[in-house]
Amino acid sequence: MLTTSESQESQQHQLGREGTKLAHRERHRSLSPEASVTHFMVDALAEAKEALKRGEVPVGCLFIRNGTIIASGGNEVNDTKNATRHAEMICIDKILQTAKDEDEDFRSVFPEISVVVTVEPCIMCLSALNQLKVREIIFGCVNDRFGGSTVLDVTQLLPPEERTPCKGGVRADEAMELLKTFYSGENPSAPVPKTRKTNKLSSK
Ligand SMILES: [Zn+2]
Repeated sequence: MLTTSESQESQQHQLGREGTKLAHRERHRSLSPEASVTHFMVDALAEAKEALKRGEVPVGCLFIRNGTIIASGGNEVNDTKNATRHAEMICIDKILQTAKDEDEDFRSVFPEISVVVTVEPCIMCLSALNQLKVREIIFGCVNDRFGGSTVLDVTQLLPPEERTPCKGGVRADEAMELLKTFYSGENPSAPVPKTRKTNKLSSK
């Protein structure tokens, strides 16, 4: 498989002037300068810890627009008994509701949003974030069971100019520790399971 830069080069070769335009758009869809949004991971981890206290898989997510947190959330899968209520979806729904309330077109909001999430988004969430054209995604630890980059790179299904820049490894150890705490059933705040000793819920 071609790497991004190889495929860019080959597209430029094939497309000539069009390729130059493509490379220009790619530069516009690059990650923020290092540390401009990554420091928000501390707040995302706080959201993940709150989720852990509620007995949820500890994943926390923030949406940042112009240096300000405009949505935050943690997983609500167990509470709602809805397997799609991942932290990213909680934030997406908050933005959609706010845009509706303020009569703003959500399509113009998402491209200004940097997503900071403690765990690599799953295939569903990464696909949704790409379709909504968020500015970038910064995540903590890898999600080797459901990850939208690791298990199946959903961006490869899209043309290069539509791929959301995505970077992992920001405070990954802390995010992973929270997941380990959850899956080992050591969370002192978690409700006592009725039918099994350890919580083996597999959904993120
Ligand atoms: Zn997800």
